[in-house]
Amino acid sequence: MAGRRDMEESIETVAGFIVRSRRIVVFTGAGASTESGIADFRSPGGIWDKYDPEDFYFQKFLANEQSREKYWHMSTELYESLKKAKPNPVHLAIAELEKLDKLDCIITQNIDGLHQKAGNSREKVIELHGTALSVSCLSCMRKYDRDEVQDRIRKGVKVPRCDDCGGLLKPDTISFGQAMPERETNEAYKRSLNSDLFIVVGSSLVVQPAAYMPINAKQGGAKLVIINRDPTPHDEYADVIINGPAGETMARILEKVRDKIKD
Ligand code: NAD
Repeated sequence: MAGRRDMEESIETVAGFIVRSRRIVVFTGAGASTESGIADFRSPGGIWDKYDPEDFYFQKFLANEQSREKYWHMSTELYESLKKAKPNPVHLAIAELEKLDKLDCIITQNIDGLHQKAGNSREKVIELHGTALSVSCLSCMRKYDRDEVQDRIRKGVKVPRCDDCGGLLKPDTISFGQAMPERETNEAYKRSLNSDLFIVVGSSLVVQPAAYMPINAKQGGAKLVIINRDPTPHDEYADVIINGPAGETMARILEKVRDKIKD
């Protein structure tokens, strides 16, 4: 981790970038929400310490009832933690960027809805991996409120099915092996390529195609900032890397931005 002085300088530099940029894209991953009490996937104690990712491929969900039961078990556990979660300083700082008219959009891998809860408008948030807050029938596409489906699970249903057609219900999140949402993916490519500042917050940058967005931004001429506790495979492309806690870092960057805007 960088020394305090290096960290201070990096925060100052990023604040300067923000003040001078016009098309800022913030890209968030699970690390943006750990300070809200939602475990990420890859850190020690994260979801993949408890479950085997191999079990959650979309094709397995489609193929057999046992996999679907496992999926709903894991997904229920994750949903319970994200339902009671509140936005943390990362989300609040990004919401403030929008209020300051400094945000083109957020591209998020998160499925927790915390950017919207923090006050970002819905049209500014591109949910690349969908949302855990709703559920759809994979056959007729009827939408269900997540809480209503969770109620059935609480009452003992192991694999919920559609009331209309009997099709499989699945949360509106993108599993490994499942097609990416077309509109969101295209929009994310376009916005990242067109950005002049691209800020990654709390992502290991290993899940594709999401992890390609910072490279795409860089190829379009943007400055790239990576704020993440651990190193990422794309660090070599970054103009500034801050390996520190996302909440405190983002809050301090915003403090500097406020000061600079006042001056
Ligand atoms: P990841 O688990 O691969 O990586 C998270 C990264 O965040 C790690 O590199 C870690 O060092 C860093 N991190 C954790 N806490 C941090 C903190 N407080 N400050 C700074 N850095 C911190 O997550 P990912 O890159 O988002 O990719 C995994 C997938 O996980 C995504 O598809 C996402 O949809 C899904 N996911 C989402 C949630 C959520 O919605 N909150 C939770 C778990 C997983």
